Amino acid sequence: MSDFHFASTERFISHAPGHWPEVGPDSWNDWRWQQKNRVTTLAGLESRLNLTTEERAGVLLAGSKLALAVTPHYFNLIEPENPDCPIRRQVVPRMEEGWDSPHDMADPCGEDAAMPVPGLVHRYPDRVLFLVTDRCASYCRYCTRSRVVSGVGEQELHTDFEEAFRYLEKHTEIRDVLLSGGDALLLSDSKLEGILKRLRSIRHIEFLRIGSRVPIFMPQRITPELCTMLRQYHPLWMSVHVNHPRELTVEVRDALGRLADAGIPLGNQSVLLAGVNDNAAIMRELVHKLLLCRVRPYYLYQCDLIRGSSHLRTSVSKGIEIIESLRGHTSGYAIPQFVIDAPGGGGKVPVNPSYVVYHDQEKIVLRNFEGRIFEYPELPAHPVSNHHESELVTV
Ligand SMILES: *Cc1c(COP(=O)(O)O)cnc(C)c1O
Repeated sequence: MSDFHFASTERFISHAPGHWPEVGPDSWNDWRWQQKNRVTTLAGLESRLNLTTEERAGVLLAGSKLALAVTPHYFNLIEPENPDCPIRRQVVPRMEEGWDSPHDMADPCGEDAAMPVPGLVHRYPDRVLFLVTDRCASYCRYCTRSRVVSGVGEQELHTDFEEAFRYLEKHTEIRDVLLSGGDALLLSDSKLEGILKRLRSIRHIEFLRIGSRVPIFMPQRITPELCTMLRQYHPLWMSVHVNHPRELTVEVRDALGRLADAGIPLGNQSVLLAGVNDNAAIMRELVHKLLLCRVRPYYLYQCDLIRGSSHLRTSVSKGIEIIESLRGHTSGYAIPQFVIDAPGGGGKVPVNPSYVVYHDQEKIVLRNFEGRIFEYPELPAHPVSNHHESELVTV
């Protein structure tokens, strides 16, 4: 409670070094140190948090499904005494991950069936998703790609880079390539640059993007050198992934600032999660803080039907209600598009509150954000004669 009050007056907080008081700034600010010192074991969690029975059981389960890993930077955002902490719910496994809900799927977005080449998902006509690694800085418990990510699940990702580049060269309709994984920003600068350079050598590819949670989990990775490299491959955009306002720390804000200063337009993709951000006030605080970081809220995803995520999923109505609480009440730039990635491979489908009360061949009847009713004609009105108009003017 007191922390919440602090957060609302000081909107960006540094939680460093937190549980790692003995670590000096040189190590702390080095992303390789963050990566090497992630919390990945039950003992690592228990030495810093009071785990619940559900969490302890969840960690044992995680070993065969989706690995446990949390960077020290992100770990410090967890409230040690609060088992319902919204940060903790995202990265600390729980027993419920072992539950089998009737709607659950291993590959909810049907990606495996849309891969012409291993590691390349070609679902939409003019753009592709390129999975360049199976590793992340930390693992989100609701990961839509948990079947292949983190190296402990039943499937493995075997991206064939040469085949993928050949496919992209041959398919001149592809103008947009989205690097994801795993997280592309875990690659070294030189490995990542090799990929970007190769993509830029393909004339019909206009637009490059990186989807990454690294700026949030490990802001230390966003070095000036990385930014200098990335800015050579413009137009390059980036989608980050923030779900709760607490994730926007001083370090994250500064990392996002370095990316924005490198001319990289930033968007955010949130996932609607029970007990994390399924609340209009939290969402409002999140989208406002994102704008302060020069990040445009892009998508709000209904949580995919990924196996073991039923305890984190909400109703679709909750998402619609949240969008409705934002639209008209705050800056249009702050409002993400709510989408459902259609189960089985239909792609992203927008889901909106309905503002159309009635619509026929003559008119559309609208409701505004306050619930007031307005009418707009569907057909152009019959023109008024000049004679008539001049009469009106002289009146
Ligand atoms: C999300 C996604 C994209 C990008 O979609 P946009 O709506 O353009 O951001 C491309 N390919 C796949 C397979 C995706 O899931």
